Amino acid sequence: MISGKYSAETVSKVQILISRYMAQDTLATGTRILEVERDFYLPINDDYWYGMRLDLLVEPLVGRLKGSVLLIDHKFTYDFYQPDNLLLNPQMPKYVGTVRYNGYPVHEAYLNMFRTRFPSHLISKKSNDDLFKRMPVGLQEMNQARIRNALKTQMTASERILERRKLPLDLWQEEALPVQNNMICRSCPFKNPCIMMEADVPAEKALGGEYQSRSYGYNSEDSDNG
Ligand code: SF4
Repeated sequence: MISGKYSAETVSKVQILISRYMAQDTLATGTRILEVERDFYLPINDDYWYGMRLDLLVEPLVGRLKGSVLLIDHKFTYDFYQPDNLLLNPQMPKYVGTVRYNGYPVHEAYLNMFRTRFPSHLISKKSNDDLFKRMPVGLQEMNQARIRNALKTQMTASERILERRKLPLDLWQEEALPVQNNMICRSCPFKNPCIMMEADVPAEKALGGEYQSRSYGYNSEDSDNG
């Protein structure tokens, strides 16, 4: 599920950041595009698969990495990731494992970050280095254990979700305890319905109007393509 409504400040910030980024981006000229926004799947067992939507797969046309396959994921983030955050983040190892399974020999993966810390009216005073950072995940050093463990955790979580889906809706809610942790909740896309539910205000309408299911799904019944 993804949130579908944003404040005017958020929309303005994203517009300004994207036009600043486009003016300094070199990816478009120095690479050949292999895939954009394509869904990839990794079959796990008969019940489910791991599904992901790739942002960008490119082949550099010049330089040291010429001819290799690079995976790029874009992130709007309050502050740039630190190296430790990247080592803890399971998304890129899962993406790399899945895209490799589908036949692309991914050589390196990058997080292309857009920093959202500054209000829109201050962005013009900031340098490109304050706003954008492309960080390699370090796949060449990343051992297979990281990919395997990220997928193993995903499988365990998927199995718990499938078990929970067999329960009636009111039991789902009883089983799911809100974490209510400031660090986690501040970037949660479900904050509004969560606040409503905490106040015993029915949230079904908000959930139906502001969110939509991911179209790549988690099993053959969920997917647009299934
Ligand atoms: S805001 Fe999000 S993370 Fe926090 S308790 Fe609610 S659903 Fe959980």
